[in-house]
Amino acid sequence: MKVIYPKNEAELKEHILKKIPSLYVMSKTSTVIPYDFLEEIKEEYLVDLSQLEKEIRLERDHLIVRGAVTWEDAIQYLANTDRSIMTYPTEKSACILAGLATSATGEMAFGYGTFRSQIKSCKYLNHEAREISLSNQIIKKNKDYSDFIENYLGFKNPPLPRFEKEVDLMIGTEGQLGIITEAVFKTVKKENYLTFFIKLPKWEEEINAHLEIVEKAQAFREDIRICEFLDSNSIKYLKNPIVENSDLIILEIKETSFEKIYEEFISKLDSIKEDDVFEIDSTKFQEMRVEIPRAVNEINSRNKVIKKGTDAQVPFNKFDGLLKYFRNWSELGIDYNLFGHIGDFHLHFNFLPLSIESDLVNSELESFYQFILKNNGSPFAEHGIGLIKQKFLKDFLPSFTTNYLKNLKKIHDPDNIFFPSGFMNIHEE
Ligand SMILES: Cc1cc2nc3c(=O)[nH]c(=O)nc-3n(C[C@H](O)[C@H](O)[C@H](O)COP(=O)(O)OP(=O)(O)OC[C@H]3O[C@@H](n4cnc5c(N)ncnc54)[C@H](O)[C@@H]3O)c2cc1C
Repeated sequence: MKVIYPKNEAELKEHILKKIPSLYVMSKTSTVIPYDFLEEIKEEYLVDLSQLEKEIRLERDHLIVRGAVTWEDAIQYLANTDRSIMTYPTEKSACILAGLATSATGEMAFGYGTFRSQIKSCKYLNHEAREISLSNQIIKKNKDYSDFIENYLGFKNPPLPRFEKEVDLMIGTEGQLGIITEAVFKTVKKENYLTFFIKLPKWEEEINAHLEIVEKAQAFREDIRICEFLDSNSIKYLKNPIVENSDLIILEIKETSFEKIYEEFISKLDSIKEDDVFEIDSTKFQEMRVEIPRAVNEINSRNKVIKKGTDAQVPFNKFDGLLKYFRNWSELGIDYNLFGHIGDFHLHFNFLPLSIESDLVNSELESFYQFILKNNGSPFAEHGIGLIKQKFLKDFLPSFTTNYLKNLKKIHDPDNIFFPSGFMNIHEE
């Protein structure tokens, strides 16, 4: 595979017009593309867009970004304004335009909803390298397809893109229909937030406190924007582990709502004592939070194993069952950790296998997706499908969707040059 780095849009357009099957990437933080194993990627070219010129500006309440702007860049850019972004994935070195392509969510989705819901418009280069604009107007829907997507109404992302608005052509389609060049999205008025940790028993031993907190937190989404989870195994990877042999739930609470949250929520928790709740500096939490998935990637890389983790979200009434399912996995004798967006019943269980344990983990993951299917969960709630998750996709799809995707691909990418080994070319065997 050849790797190229277009420096500007003219060079990018030049490559598109060569009509060579390529995978166009930005910061390469996707957990569903095996960047450590380039031989697994079949496209002729990896077109790395991370050197593209960056443009960023605030117009009224909307941020407009072009090129290789990262979430971190956007945070820095807004630092001296009264606005802030409403989304960032835990890995803030990822690019915002790629975030559209993967339909990224992240910690703040608990309070602010998904990135998709914040998008006003975007632009992309089509197969003729022409720039096309997409608005957030509702489009004419295919009834079968929208009935299928309706099943996933309360989830961050269904197993396939939603295709309800014009911009959805680029959201969650992972660069298979064109290359996104610009995005316009909402910001929010800046407010002060306080970060609190709640210490809990290890989930492998006791889950009552976990369930009580997430259930009661649902009524306070206007006041709490983050409801995250780190288990005791994840905490061991921190440079400064702040607790031992305990799990943590982390809440970011609007400063102006603090008294209300304390009186109506935290002090009313039956399974938590006041001594188990403590405040921490918000920046410290952000730094800690990203250390954990990065450590998972480093361990897998060292063990020469492709990432083996879950990204499933379930309804609250199935969350208890999900934790029990993970408990069985914790007894397999393979290293693991569990962390993620507990307020949305969306956790990342990560196996950390040695390469000789990979086959066992693969077969466990096959069974897990059947469990998610039976429990009406969403299998790929935020990291997308990429190459790594494709083998789990088919069982979630009614048969008509294969043709639906293939037709879209034919219309928008007739030469099959945009990530042709992606999920839209999935074939029935
Ligand atoms: C430590 C860690 C934490 C993470 N936390 C989260 C999280 O909380 N939430 C979350 O959603 N994800 C998370 N991720 C996953 C990842 O960060 C996101 O998927 C992110 O959106 C990828 O951005 P990127 O710039 O790295 O994209 P890349 O990995 O470079 O590309 C990802 C996909 O997007 C496509 N793409 C990239 N740029 C474009 C473009 N301009 N036009 C069209 N298609 C394009 C690519 O073809 C590819 O399919 C995490 C990853 C890591 C490593």
